[in-house]
Amino acid sequence: MVSMPAADEYRKLSFWHETVPGTLEPGDPLPGDLDADVAIAGAGYTGLWTAYYLSHADPGLKIAVCERDIAGFGASGRNGGWCSALFPASLGKLERMSGRDAAIAMYRAMQATVDEVGRVAAAEGIDCHWAKGGTVQLARSATQMERARDEVAEARSFGFGEEDLRLLSAGEARGLAGASGVLGGTFTPHCAAIHPSRLARGLADAVRRRGVSLFERTPVLRLAPGRLVTGTGTVRARYVIRATEGYTPVLRGEQRTLAPVYSLMIATAPLPEEAWAEIGLAGRPTFSDLRHLIIYGQRTADGRLAFGGRGAPYHLGSAVRPSFDRVPAVFNALRRTLAELFPVLGDVKVTHGWGGPLGVPRDWCASAGLEGSTGLGWAGGYVGDGVATTNLAGRTLADLITGTDSEITRLPWVGHRSPRWEPEPLRWLGANAGLQAMSWADRAEARTGRPSRAAQVVGRFLGS
Ligand SMILES: Cc1cc2nc3c(=O)[nH]c(=O)nc-3n(C[C@H](O)[C@H](O)[C@H](O)COP(=O)(O)OP(=O)(O)OC[C@H]3O[C@@H](n4cnc5c(N)ncnc54)[C@H](O)[C@@H]3O)c2cc1C
Repeated sequence: MVSMPAADEYRKLSFWHETVPGTLEPGDPLPGDLDADVAIAGAGYTGLWTAYYLSHADPGLKIAVCERDIAGFGASGRNGGWCSALFPASLGKLERMSGRDAAIAMYRAMQATVDEVGRVAAAEGIDCHWAKGGTVQLARSATQMERARDEVAEARSFGFGEEDLRLLSAGEARGLAGASGVLGGTFTPHCAAIHPSRLARGLADAVRRRGVSLFERTPVLRLAPGRLVTGTGTVRARYVIRATEGYTPVLRGEQRTLAPVYSLMIATAPLPEEAWAEIGLAGRPTFSDLRHLIIYGQRTADGRLAFGGRGAPYHLGSAVRPSFDRVPAVFNALRRTLAELFPVLGDVKVTHGWGGPLGVPRDWCASAGLEGSTGLGWAGGYVGDGVATTNLAGRTLADLITGTDSEITRLPWVGHRSPRWEPEPLRWLGANAGLQAMSWADRAEARTGRPSRAAQVVGRFLGS
């Protein structure tokens, strides 16, 4: 029997869990066997959005969501709060997979999805601290500037204009985010900064209000056609949906479907007005730079910097453990990077550090789908771009389940099957070599000012 944390333990999961209103006391577990129309494993954004749109499409449907801990326990409650139009596969890669029009349609659908999240949050009275201030990506070396130009050129070649992504001069970039060493950058308006846990918990309340049965503290052991099996009972349903993202390898038969890769974050104490005068981020645009090993940040509604990055190792056997959420060396590296970006921070106090697993598919391309013959469905593999993408997944699964013919069900990620990851220890070697290569590439570029050869390895790892 696995012991489950109490509400005050869930508060400690992240800055967002600590500051989300309402109780984190888990709801009742599944009490025994149950008949439903749709059974969903996992109450992160994917499971909750799917339940939400299904309950709208057909209020008569019996929907049961089984969550191992509490709604919003996973990445959905702990992320960087970028509700962005980013999709893990590039336009070029989608074009190679499914053609030019499909690639463009995917990116346009992602842009519309950002606004759809904002629309539902407002309609459901979810105060998720929504601020659609866009994203500024800083270029802090000649190589990063070159990458910024390449990104804009790729966007233009697919018909995306200045209103979607534009190149920034050094002055413009610094005007948005007053970081050190800025040579320029890019700006896209298609992103909102949010408080992620407020969205997750608010969505859970919204689906409960709509009659969805949400069982917490209910670990799912296995998914099979017509059956979602837990320790306390089986939900029998025509449709069974996997929405477990980075935790998927714990499900029987899913060991090699997605690799859990950790992203870690820190939050500073609220900053004084003088610091904000220098840092900027007025309108709360999210920010990053163009290094390989991704960093991301936002100015929170209560005046802190919440800042994260990859770099924590992948763990052998796709292991996911609470201790992996906190790696002091990564927190220190994030602290150093943040101070280097914004020297005005000086020795400002870092009050929180946390992390969580992302789901990474072997080809780095997210997917959503439903097998007509078995009724088994899934969505995931968002890498680090799931806040908005999960909403598109939820609408797509709802359309597929209700047999609604819509444009979003024809998008190229629908029904896409990523290859399975290699067996261990190859998976461990490959995933960590990729992460290491990104880190080397960044260090080599910072030293030499030229694109590094490790960057080519990174490109291969990303399949871009
Ligand atoms: C630190 C961090 C920062 C990130 N920043 C961003 C960002 O700024 N922007 C962005 O777009 N994306 C970001 N992401 C990614 C984004 O948060 C995820 O892609 C998204 O939340 C995935 O939602 P999900 O519902 O599919 O998965 P999750 O939120 O992980 O939900 C899966 C749920 O399944 C439950 N579960 C697991 N195993 C079982 C089981 N056996 N039985 C029942 N339930 C189970 C878990 O408890 C969890 O609640 C970040 C992720 C992390 C970790």
